[in-house]
Amino acid sequence: MNALAATNRNFQLAARILGLDSKLHKSLLIPFREIKVECTVPRDDGSFVSYIGFRIQHDNARGPMKGGIRYHPEVDPDEVNVLAQLMTWKTAVANFPYGGAKGGIGCNPRELTVSELERVTRVFTQKIHDLIGIHRDVPAPDMGTNSQTMAWILDEYSKFHGYSPAVVTGKPIELGGSLGREAATGLGVVFATEFLLDEYGMSIANMKFAIQGFGNVGSWAASFIHQKGGKVVAVSDITGAVKNPNGIDIPALLKHKEKAYSLKDFEGGDAMNLNDVLVHECDVLIPCALGGVLNKENAADVKAKFIIEAANHPTDPEADEILSRKGVIIRPDIYANSGGVTVSYFEWVQNIQGFMWEEEKVNYELKRYMKRAFSDIKAMCHTHNCNLRMGAFALGVNKVARATVLRGWEA
Ligand code: GLU
Repeated sequence: MNALAATNRNFQLAARILGLDSKLHKSLLIPFREIKVECTVPRDDGSFVSYIGFRIQHDNARGPMKGGIRYHPEVDPDEVNVLAQLMTWKTAVANFPYGGAKGGIGCNPRELTVSELERVTRVFTQKIHDLIGIHRDVPAPDMGTNSQTMAWILDEYSKFHGYSPAVVTGKPIELGGSLGREAATGLGVVFATEFLLDEYGMSIANMKFAIQGFGNVGSWAASFIHQKGGKVVAVSDITGAVKNPNGIDIPALLKHKEKAYSLKDFEGGDAMNLNDVLVHECDVLIPCALGGVLNKENAADVKAKFIIEAANHPTDPEADEILSRKGVIIRPDIYANSGGVTVSYFEWVQNIQGFMWEEEKVNYELKRYMKRAFSDIKAMCHTHNCNLRMGAFALGVNKVARATVLRGWEA
């Protein structure tokens, strides 16, 4: 089952347990708008390169559409569609007034120079500028993009519409970015882990963690876990993987990666096979990279008792079933990785207020939002006697369905 079919299936199951009116099904599943644009730019050597860019705006019943822009060779319309739909449920679960969207360009940012990336970003912005906006659709960083990408989008958008910092989030602090945004997804993952472990009378200290992905999300999550006394026993990214049964010194690994641009040859642990991180001996597994990494090939070999989905849709439905038969508890993506978009919402609020919050306030509010969403999910699980993934889907779908009905159907 591909990712789109799997996500639609979770939606259908949630719709069924909610007893949702069937005329709402189609309306909630089909994206509000799908944008596909051609981005042709000159390379530094004078040759030309063409990419396809997408922005899929899934739903705006609860407010402006919100979601990241991904630069990755595997970006395709189905994938962006799944990610856009997940943003709709994610913002509803977190309970702030947004819908969902996602964008992407099918390029490999590692093969482009900074000035080439800037040109691609500006051309993409020129083609979508009249369909995004502060109260329409607010992009943010995702895989392969960062605060610099957002600064270019802001600058290009402002040429058409006047200076509008709230049109993107995840910006550099100097341009109205929020304190705490960079670390927010990783910190949110750690809050989600703490709340879950707490239910079982456990805490992060001395638990063993395996983390797949050491980019913006994985590296922050690993750092916070390390600070809280957790043992990160295995880490991987696309450059390499390292294990240490006594716990990896995460600050040292970060320094190594900064120098070597790779996890390879780190002296504080032993090298291991990239994919083995997912089935490594640990208590908590945190996939922080691409979707579909847990599947029927490896799910039976997972040793973790808990999985925190920091990536979007890392567990495919077959793996979901195998893992649930094994009694593994999964914290679903639309809750576990919502820290980033939550602080994006705070950034947007600060921009509109024209007032910058202290980092303590940002982190305090993030924890408060995640705590409330956690108890809302638990209440759903209790009412409908379902697992955490279904509880989260039902919570999100229900809020969007109610908003849709309240706004009415009159054409
Ligand atoms: N790309 C992140 C996500 O998938 C953040 C989106 C945002 O901040 O709008 O949730």
